[in-house]
Amino acid sequence: MAANEHPSPTAMSGRRKLHVKSYGCQMNVYDSHRMADTLAREGFIESPAEDADLLILNTCHIREKAAEKVYSELGRIRQLKDAAAHEGRRVIIAIAGCVAQAEGEEIIRRAPFVDLVVGPQNYHRLPALLARAERDGKIVDTEFAVEDKFEHLAAPTPEATRARGVSAFVTVQEGCDKFCTFCVVPYTRGAETSRPVAKILAEAERLTQAGVREITLIGQNVNAYHGAGPDGRPHTLGMLLHALAETPDLARLRYATSHPTDMDDSLIAAHRDLAKLMPQLHLPVQSGSDRILAAMNRRHTRTDYLAVIARLRAARPDMAFTSDFIVGFPGETEDDFRATLRIIDEVGYAGAFSFKYSPRPGTPAADDENQVDEVVKVERLARLQAAVEHRQTTFISGCVGRTFDVLFEKVGRLQGQLVGRSPYLHPVQVMAPTSMIGTIATVTITGIGSNSLFGTLAHSLHLDAARPALADVGA
Ligand code: SAM
Ligand code: SF4
Repeated sequence: MAANEHPSPTAMSGRRKLHVKSYGCQMNVYDSHRMADTLAREGFIESPAEDADLLILNTCHIREKAAEKVYSELGRIRQLKDAAAHEGRRVIIAIAGCVAQAEGEEIIRRAPFVDLVVGPQNYHRLPALLARAERDGKIVDTEFAVEDKFEHLAAPTPEATRARGVSAFVTVQEGCDKFCTFCVVPYTRGAETSRPVAKILAEAERLTQAGVREITLIGQNVNAYHGAGPDGRPHTLGMLLHALAETPDLARLRYATSHPTDMDDSLIAAHRDLAKLMPQLHLPVQSGSDRILAAMNRRHTRTDYLAVIARLRAARPDMAFTSDFIVGFPGETEDDFRATLRIIDEVGYAGAFSFKYSPRPGTPAADDENQVDEVVKVERLARLQAAVEHRQTTFISGCVGRTFDVLFEKVGRLQGQLVGRSPYLHPVQVMAPTSMIGTIATVTITGIGSNSLFGTLAHSLHLDAARPALADVGA
């Protein structure tokens, strides 16, 4: 539907200003873009928070601190709302995301100046909810919508897509049926659902036509994907990747975040067969101890996990892995923790995120009597992070002297410098003309930063056939 054909339930006059602040995962970033796209149809343009008429906090509830951060941010936002009121301007405050889903009415109780609380399944209703909040006062909508929100959320304009850069996220599945005992996702995002293949292919086509070269498929449990294929039968993520690899001008594919038990044959085959699928995988293990993995309800053992890694390396020898770890899960002993330290060396991770276990209300592990002392958690986290850092430095040092295909994304901090991404997602800083943004070129790595690389263009090895050759863009 064209912008001027769309009925405006908010009946707004003129261009109003919108600011969306995202917390947490890539799925929230994607949702924030979809909310902005949907509200653009209502006449909203994006602006800094200070000027906004509508301020949306897209929140994350995965760990305690994340929710508390939102409440402290709300303190600052209240000042913005009060200052605007002094100027005779009304600012609507909306809380979206998983804190909205989990806390619901409690948000309005703790922060009565909030106008609207909306759960992740209901973003397509935002225009109508806003109109009601403006008319009737406080609205809380955390029901799980029966209609498919993706059918109703607006697509970005080509200009909005271009402004967001050459690398884009596409949500392909949402929710989770795994019920790890520490995790709120199955409660806040609901049961696992997958988008149909045709919709994802159409979105990829639209993005690449607007200049996107790399797509990361995202989902809370992305490799549980089972969307309907053209014949109505479910497609696995491996099948979806094979289909997406046919998209003209799409140079790179990635996906996140995966569960080890859903790495099926078709997905491993995709790593073997698809040059566009990058040789980097975030595959969280959480713990290296079988006892703790069982208590977490992870549904796999340490041996199972290592077998998946071995199969992926056999399919694609240059694969690099990253992981998430939780330390101080209830009942974790020093021996359990040492098993986690050992798996870091066994896999040789290129990097990892690590967290202290945070009891989440309503999850089984939160009620476990054997909670680990905070001092122990802090100490284990420091040891784990030192081990990960050691591995990360080993990986990154090993990049010096190698050549990588780099997708250039934006200008760097220094004049004449571009920043791109290696196949392993490391930022690579290279002296190159801005006309190369959106192209892929071969770069020789000459130096390293803490988690970034420096390189020079290897002119004769330019490989991006779909784009202008280096000579054509004056390199
Ligand atoms: N679906 C992914 C998986 O199975 O690994 C993870 C998704 S979760 C949004 C991201 C990470 O947050 C998890 O991998 C876990 O390490 C961390 N996490 C989740 N709940 C946590 C909790 N209660 N305390 C600490 N970390 C937690
Ligand atoms: Fe949470 Fe991931 Fe476990 Fe699902 S698989 S419950 S999202 S940690």
